[in-house]
Amino acid sequence: MQLADRVQHLKPSATLAISAKAQELKAAGHDILSLSVGEPDFPTPKHICDAAKNAIDAGFTRYTAVPGTPDLRAAAAGYFKQHYGVQAGPENIIIGNGGKQCLYNLFQAVLNPGDHVLIPAPYWVSYPPMVELAGAKPVIIPSTAEAGFKISVAALEAAHTPKTRMLVLNSPSNPTGACYTQKELEAIAAWAIAHNVLLAADEIYDQLVYDGKTPLSLAPMWEKNPEHVVVLNGTAKTFAMTGWRVGYALAHPDYIKAMTRLQGQSTSNVCSVAQKAAEAALRGGLAEVEVMKKAFERRRNLAMDIVNTWPDVLCPRPQGAFYIFPDMHHHFTKAMPDSTAMCAFLLDKAGIAAVPGAAFGNDNCLRFSYAVSDETLESALTKVGKTLFG
Ligand code: GLU
Repeated sequence: MQLADRVQHLKPSATLAISAKAQELKAAGHDILSLSVGEPDFPTPKHICDAAKNAIDAGFTRYTAVPGTPDLRAAAAGYFKQHYGVQAGPENIIIGNGGKQCLYNLFQAVLNPGDHVLIPAPYWVSYPPMVELAGAKPVIIPSTAEAGFKISVAALEAAHTPKTRMLVLNSPSNPTGACYTQKELEAIAAWAIAHNVLLAADEIYDQLVYDGKTPLSLAPMWEKNPEHVVVLNGTAKTFAMTGWRVGYALAHPDYIKAMTRLQGQSTSNVCSVAQKAAEAALRGGLAEVEVMKKAFERRRNLAMDIVNTWPDVLCPRPQGAFYIFPDMHHHFTKAMPDSTAMCAFLLDKAGIAAVPGAAFGNDNCLRFSYAVSDETLESALTKVGKTLFG
């Protein structure tokens, strides 16, 4: 059988693959606790489900406009106005199949073969493959646990070449939970604008920030520099809507039009019923989100209390999202030399599923999701500690 060159070396998404493996093992009767995929364990709030039910009952089951219904595009634009004081209209919004497809569309719409895309590491697993699928080159900028897993403008400057076309910034970060400050965000955006680099701000976890922090966004920078900033977000993480697949991008109308042409030739519109649900989510306030956020913060604290007892493990305290990313390399051995081997060992010996840091561009670390019940989290991390440190 002959496959296209572009998929010959394409690896499956590690987050999804490990979660699928954990589910398979569970179904086969093994005792597995999965801290692998990043997915809220809460049900989608009732008013959102009701909007979907009403949409079905009203027969809202046909194609919609490719970039989304005008109402949902207006609701997404309204989100940026409500939370970040930004004036945007439906023409600045495309609705995609998750933030994931919006980002994929963006790369396809703006990158040419040979372009360089700066990606700070640790990064979300799908950024480099998506960049490569657009024919461009991911240029990874490493960061350290000691630096709180954040990169500096100096590091961007060092990585910049005439081929640099884009920078992907994810704050709060998956997998580290690191959050850039307003000042840092502005400095990075100013650098990108000055260098004619398009800044793709992946803000899928914007509402999930802890310790009383205020959500931050690059949307105000977009408003002033619409050709140099694109903001990506979605309903999955904020509203516990992972399976509904509704994401959105805020961008200059020319980017939106290009992404719409791509989407029109590939997937067409996002599920009509899911769009109605997303509209209810975006217009419905954040009362339920606040409850989920409190639970995530409690679990972050619980996870850190356990991880802080682990010897010779460095884990910057996450300030957002729902992952911890401890550096475990002091415990690698000849038989267990890297993050992939350590995850395999934990799955085999303790029945704990975690994602190897290698998939996020840092082979010293393991990613544990704390978007699970307190009991699962406590029992899983306690088992990890017992299995590795006795
Ligand atoms: N973004 C989530 C994660 O990192 C969901 C899975 C995925 O699409 O990668 O676990």
